[in-house]
Amino acid sequence: MTTLLIKNAYIVTMDDHQREIPGGGLFIRDGFVEQVGQAASLPQDADEVLDLEGFVVLPGLVNTHHHFYQTLTRAVPAAQDANLFNWLTTLYPIWARMNPEDIFTSAQTALAELALSGCTTASDHLYLFPNGSRLDDEIAAAREIGLRIQASRGSMSLGQSQGGLPPDSVVDSEDSILRDSQRLIQQYHDPRPGAFVQIVLAPCSPFSVTSDLMKQSAQLAREYGVHLHTHLAETEDEEQFCLQRFGHRPVGYMQAVDWVGDDVWFAHAVWVNTEEIQVFAEHKCGVAHCPTSNMRLASGIAPVKEYRLAGVNVGLGVDGSASNDGSHLLAEVRNAMLVARVKEGLTGYSLSNDPNRRLMTAREALYLGTRGGAAVVGRTDIGSLEPRKCADFFAVDLNRLGFTGMHDPVSAIVFGQPVNVDYTVVGGKFIVKEGQLCTVDERKLIEKHNRAAKRLLEG
Ligand SMILES: [Zn+2]
Repeated sequence: MTTLLIKNAYIVTMDDHQREIPGGGLFIRDGFVEQVGQAASLPQDADEVLDLEGFVVLPGLVNTHHHFYQTLTRAVPAAQDANLFNWLTTLYPIWARMNPEDIFTSAQTALAELALSGCTTASDHLYLFPNGSRLDDEIAAAREIGLRIQASRGSMSLGQSQGGLPPDSVVDSEDSILRDSQRLIQQYHDPRPGAFVQIVLAPCSPFSVTSDLMKQSAQLAREYGVHLHTHLAETEDEEQFCLQRFGHRPVGYMQAVDWVGDDVWFAHAVWVNTEEIQVFAEHKCGVAHCPTSNMRLASGIAPVKEYRLAGVNVGLGVDGSASNDGSHLLAEVRNAMLVARVKEGLTGYSLSNDPNRRLMTAREALYLGTRGGAAVVGRTDIGSLEPRKCADFFAVDLNRLGFTGMHDPVSAIVFGQPVNVDYTVVGGKFIVKEGQLCTVDERKLIEKHNRAAKRLLEG
């Protein structure tokens, strides 16, 4: 039995009442929150006591979409100014050179960056397995860093010779994809509250996977009760591809291959119409909104306000590190708020008196990053600070230059410049303490990662 007491902080619970507790605290036992409230009302003794006066404490952020391996190919000159399809075709041959050690090292790097930005649970979508790489390599990295992972077994089976976008050298046979998916579920998937590893099946996108693999992946996932994830309606190019190849728009294609339900979440979902938003709402599909990537690749702006009004669960994702080009989830919260306001301004929201048409608030953006993300990946044990939930949270010291003159401790961390957090705790265990990573040597990781990245580019 181990206990941890956090006291005298400004606690943002993200519970159903959106309670915020100045002078509050958390009492944690064996990795779960036991009590939340005024610091004076909590037990005063614990194995470890941390006084966080002057800090704001929030539930750990949930990252709903990422490709960890792309930390190795950030800001590649030939892909800096490309749209999605050109960006992909430039990078596929470089990614084809990765080995298992590269997958491990890049996953450690992305997870360390995420931890420093307040993330405690990360979904990752790995869909290339060159030179003997396996999903196991990134799961091992997550276990070392100490973040929870929704490890998505991605796949590509539709190569160029069959009309797909990726070169044939990076696609796999459907038999081997399904066999490996089943092995991973059996070996790693933990459905219990407090799970550190959950497996997700995630064929990559309509333009890199056959309809048959989509259907068979859905069937396999439902046999085992694991979730499904894919890229959808990211760009207009994809819409054209789907209409030409399948005779459907992307959302209609998902319905045709049995990919709708509360066990499905889609990355991006930018290019959707009003009826398609209703399809997501009716079937309870979730959306991973990745504002930085959508801006970086000029993909468009997802209709987040419309999704929320329709009752669709929306979470945030940093997306792959080659289209962001970072893994800072708190920065994503900020960009989600700002880009929503760009869209709202363009459609006249800011001039409207309708309460449903007000600008996205900082607290709403934080909700997307916490409760929203938890709902999207199908977890009820994370996303808020309440009794019986996982003791996953981050803390930011407000006593820093960039926050001077801020008149709201919660909005400060969204309106203000994105900062690295001071504490990140997962299951009651410190991953970041006093601004430093506790579970990995940051300098050594940077050196190892840079060596791998250089080797990949040089071929
Ligand atoms: Zn992606």
